Amino acid sequence: MKKLIAGNWKMNGSLAINRDLLAALVSGMAGGDSVCDVAVCVPSAYLQQVQDALVRTPIKWGAQDVSAHDQGAFTGEISANMLRDFACRYTLVGHSERRQYHGESDSVVAAKAQRALAAGITPIVCVGETLAERESGQTMMVVKRQLAAAIHAVGHCATEIVVAYEPVWAIGTGLTASPEQAQEVHAVLRTQLLAACGRSASLPRILYGGSMNASNAALLLSQPDIDGGLIGGASLKAADFLAIVAAASAV
Ligand code: PEP
Repeated sequence: MKKLIAGNWKMNGSLAINRDLLAALVSGMAGGDSVCDVAVCVPSAYLQQVQDALVRTPIKWGAQDVSAHDQGAFTGEISANMLRDFACRYTLVGHSERRQYHGESDSVVAAKAQRALAAGITPIVCVGETLAERESGQTMMVVKRQLAAAIHAVGHCATEIVVAYEPVWAIGTGLTASPEQAQEVHAVLRTQLLAACGRSASLPRILYGGSMNASNAALLLSQPDIDGGLIGGASLKAADFLAIVAAASAV
C-alpha cells in the first residue's frame, strides 16, 4: 500500500511564512524520487495560496475541518463544497483538538466525514485515546467506538476514507507511541476496517500521528499496519517534513 504523509499545519503560518515553506517543499520534492503520497492540511484562509503553489506539483492539499452541514445559517463554518472550490483532496475530521476544544462528538465527526465524501474529498478521520483512557485500559474500546461511528455513517464508502490513529497524549507533547504500541492499535483498526469493507476492496490507509518526526518516522512507518503519518509540528519545517517523506518512501 502506498504510504501517505500528511502535514497538519494547525493554526500556524502567514502568507510570507507559507510562501517559503511551500517553495521549500516543492523544490525538495522536485527530484521526483518520492514514492509516497504527500499532502498538507492548512488553515482554510490559505487554501487559495496553497492551491496556486501546489497545483502543478505532486503535493496535494486539504483542510483541517469541514462543516457537518451542507449550507446555510452556520456562521463561521466552511462547507465541503467550498473546500471543493479550492480542489482540496483531503480534509481532517475529528482531530482531537476539535473533539476536545469544540466538543465534537463521534456522530458530528461521522457527519463531517460523510459531507466530505459526498463532495469528493477524502476525509482523514482522526481517532485516539486520552492518557486517562489508556491508563484505564480503554484504548481499544475508544478507538473502535470512534471509528465505528464514521464507518456506520459513510456505509459502503468506508473504503474511501483515511484513518489517522492519534493518541491524544502524544499530540504536540513530544511523547510518541512506541512502534509496538502504535502497531497494536493499528492492527485492531485494520481488523475493524476489514470487517466493514470486505477483503476484496482496497482498504483505507491508517496513518499514525503524535509527535512523529525525522528521527522516529522510519521505525514507526516500518510497522506492518502503519500506512503513513499525520504530522503536526514537524510539518512546519520543510527539512523535517521532507525527511519524513523520504523515510516513508524508503520503507
Ligand atoms: C497533529 O496535530 O495531528 C499532530 C500529530 O501533531 P504533532 O505531530 O505535533 O504531535
